Amino acid sequence: MRIAIAGFSHESNSFSSQPTALEDFGVRAGDQLIPHYRDTFTELAGFIAGAAEQGFEPVPLFSASATPAGPLTRQAYEALVGRLLADLQAAGPLDGVLLALHGAMVAEHFPHADAETVHRLRAHFGPAFPIVVTHDYHANVPPSLAEEATALIIYKTNPHIDQRERGLQAAGIVARTVREEVRPVSALVKPELLFNIYHHNTSRPPMQPLMQAAIELEKQPGILACSIAAGYQYADVPWMGPSIAVVADGDQSLAQREAQRLGELMWTRREELKANPPKPVEAVAMAMASERFPVTLLDFGDNIGGGSTGDSTFLLAELLRQGAQGWVVTLYDPESAQACNRAGIGAQVALRVGGKTDTQHGPTLSVYGRARTLHAGTYEEHERRHGGGRHFDQGLTAVVAVGGPGREGLLVLNSERSSPNSIHQITCVGIQPQHQRILVAKGAVAPRAAYEPVSARLIEVDTPGATAIGRASSEYKLARKTLYEWR
Ligand SMILES: [Zn+2]
Repeated sequence: MRIAIAGFSHESNSFSSQPTALEDFGVRAGDQLIPHYRDTFTELAGFIAGAAEQGFEPVPLFSASATPAGPLTRQAYEALVGRLLADLQAAGPLDGVLLALHGAMVAEHFPHADAETVHRLRAHFGPAFPIVVTHDYHANVPPSLAEEATALIIYKTNPHIDQRERGLQAAGIVARTVREEVRPVSALVKPELLFNIYHHNTSRPPMQPLMQAAIELEKQPGILACSIAAGYQYADVPWMGPSIAVVADGDQSLAQREAQRLGELMWTRREELKANPPKPVEAVAMAMASERFPVTLLDFGDNIGGGSTGDSTFLLAELLRQGAQGWVVTLYDPESAQACNRAGIGAQVALRVGGKTDTQHGPTLSVYGRARTLHAGTYEEHERRHGGGRHFDQGLTAVVAVGGPGREGLLVLNSERSSPNSIHQITCVGIQPQHQRILVAKGAVAPRAAYEPVSARLIEVDTPGATAIGRASSEYKLARKTLYEWR
């Protein structure tokens, strides 16, 4: 049995000013794919382990992914989907495909680009060919994808730490389908909710009990998979919002009935889906007044993993204004990192930092300080953290000590936008988080897996930006205006 394995993943933010081009994608192809992913916690690692477990030959094609930002250009999408189809054709006889897609990819000419990818594979292989797809928990699943995929499996955790298990589950379903031991049939239910990112943590209500119901259902006879995607509110697409996807063995009415039941269960939580976290002024004051440190401020509006710029200055400005001490702020600012590199370690530097990508993320700020550390920017994560990655690269990175006695802080200036999924983003440059007072993590729920173990407390902050927590329905063109939160 020969099963192709491939990944094509991007979370595309319709409110980002930065389109995603072909050169933004990192690609691992052919013989590189298995060595690169085998020891990670990604769904590709699950596909690879599943091949050994199920006794099939994995045929590695390629994996392409890019840091979340704006929608893909037409050229980027067509080049990569074209390559996927070409590689499938060149792979020789295949019995099935395992495909890791994000579920919230937008291309400039396809709002639901992942569904278009599956559609093209289905058109190529015909109706009976097994195509098992995995999605991120932030997928906006359209009905056509659930119809055209043989089975859809979605992460069950946020922070995302179960991708490997979902990859294994997908591998089991594809192998059993090829052996004709099971016949997957799917149902998709889309509750008419926006389901704000503030409530996406799978360890607490309202999502925790819903996910628990999905996990329980998956143990029932006749059910092959039960998934809940919370959706991704920053993609302005027709099917933005949560999804319940149930895959049953041959029994369509069972799949439909159970998906409906879970959809109704989600609907009963609709009054709990409001979000009102503090703004920067209040959040910084709360952090400074804390009795235990460090306090991590989650910068929702500059959520890099959600497609924001990574150079927002709203929280930095407030830390400086309130005279906080012991703070650590990471900013994407290659220009300032280079300036520190030229000045050298120990040099006094006057910098203009942050707010350079666009006008949504606060003003560029003037800071004075001492270049304390220079680093090439690579670091490794061996623990299971959001995204399941192991190797990271934030490019040339400088740490600048800013402020006088009693109000010192550390500015980490990097050259690649890097979501704070690993605490080693700051430990690799010599920062000991346990000895700091206020850490700023540019994300919503994702940084929790890395920051909860080192933080006395985490505070969610309602900051402006491409990933601001609340947007008026009038800012959306394609999303359904019938969603409960907008009525
Ligand atoms: Zn996600």
